[in-house]
Order: sequence, then structure tokens, then C-alpha cells
Amino acid sequence: MDATEKTLEAVRAMAAAMEERRVELTQLDAAIGDGDHGTNMHRGFRAALERLQASPPGTPSEVLKAVSMALVSRVGGAAGPLYGTAFLRASSALSGREEPSAADVAAALEAALAGVKQRGRAEVGDKTMVDALEPAVRAARQAEGKGVAAMLRAAAEAAGEGAEATVPLTARKGRASYLGARAAGHKDPGAASTAYLLAAAARAVEG
Ligand code: ADP
Ligand code: MG
Ligand code: MG
Repeated sequence: MDATEKTLEAVRAMAAAMEERRVELTQLDAAIGDGDHGTNMHRGFRAALERLQASPPGTPSEVLKAVSMALVSRVGGAAGPLYGTAFLRASSALSGREEPSAADVAAALEAALAGVKQRGRAEVGDKTMVDALEPAVRAARQAEGKGVAAMLRAAAEAAGEGAEATVPLTARKGRASYLGARAAGHKDPGAASTAYLLAAAARAVEG
């Protein structure tokens, strides 16, 4: 399987994860937001698969670009533009890389994080997807020498821990910030979806 097909497999796995986790993510968002995160993400990834089917991509970068466009136009809310930016930055970082190395993939994750932080102005501890993505990037950089699959696995595990760590926090960004102390005791839905997306990508690449 070439890198474009592997990237497509990763996106298919992410779409399947968003379908599987739709209710759970929506319940997390119902507790501290407006109860739409799971349906938003599911809709967006379904649109991504449709877009990829309609015009088959030729490179990993093109796969991620198509996902970005679908997420921006179909997810909506806060997460749509943020995930759209993440995938667009990752796409740009992989531009010209037909067979990305682990270091290239780590750089793409880092670019995604930078885009999310620039766009959403959130830092670790604000109870957002950054709480999952930033530790994932750190873990990816540390595991770069182990190859793409092991690196994504390490990133996904760190993202899962980061998402768990949002439970006691009060939110400083997004809708949950309107709740003040009442947001404490609930996991951030965007951090949870980030961890599920990375876990799905890792599983797909592990094969
Ligand atoms: P909305 O809140 O508009 O309904 P979603 O429910 O789809 O959008 O997504 C909510 C998630 O978006 C939050 O759980 C959080 O992780 C993420 N989020 C919200 N605002 C920001 C921000 N400024 N920076 C990073 N992530 C954010
Ligand atoms: Mg919501
Ligand atoms: Mg909403």
C-alpha cells in the first residue's frame, strides 16, 4: 500500500470512529456545551469520504486537503474551522512528500497544532482540543525514530491522557467557558474527538 492509500485508510478509520463515537461525543458536549459535537464530526467526516470518492487524491497532502475542505464546510460551530485548519496545515506540511517519513508526519502534526492554537487562541489547560493535541505532538516528536505507526500510537496515547486530564478543569475557551466552575467534572468533547481521531489513524497505519 502506498502512502496515499494509507492516508485514505486513516481517514476512513477516522470517519468510522466518528460514527462509532457520535453519541458519546454528543453526550460529552451536552454536559458542557450545546450537544452537537458528535453529530457535527460525524457529518463532517461523512462529507470528507464523499469528497474523496468524488475526486480521488494523488498524494497524502491532497487527501488531507480534501478532508479540510469537507470539515470547514460541513462541521460548523467552533470545531469545524479548527479541525479544518488543522487538516489544512497538515496538508501543507506534507506538500511535495509522496512517501512521508515519521519526521514528516510529526511535522504535519506540529503544523496542525500551531494552526489550531493560532486560530483558537487556546493553550494547554483551557479545556479544549489543544489539551489532547499538544501532548500528542510532544509524544510524536519523541517517538519519531520508531516509524510512523509507532509514532502515531504514542501520539494517540498521549492525546487520550490529555483528554482525560481535561475532566477536572474549568474551561477558558469555547462554549464550556460560559459555565464557569460547572464545567469541572466533565471531559472536553473536542479533546476526546482528537484522541479518537489519532487512535483511529494509528490503528489504520498499523494495518
Ligand atoms: P460548538 O461549541 O460551536 O457547538 P463543537 O461542539 O463542535 O462546536 O466543538 C466544541 C469543541 O471545540 C470544544 O469541546 C473544544 O474542544 C473545541 N474548542 C472550542 N473553542 C476552542 C478554541 N478557542 N480553541 C481550541 N478548541 C476549541
Ligand atoms: Mg457543540
Ligand atoms: Mg454548536
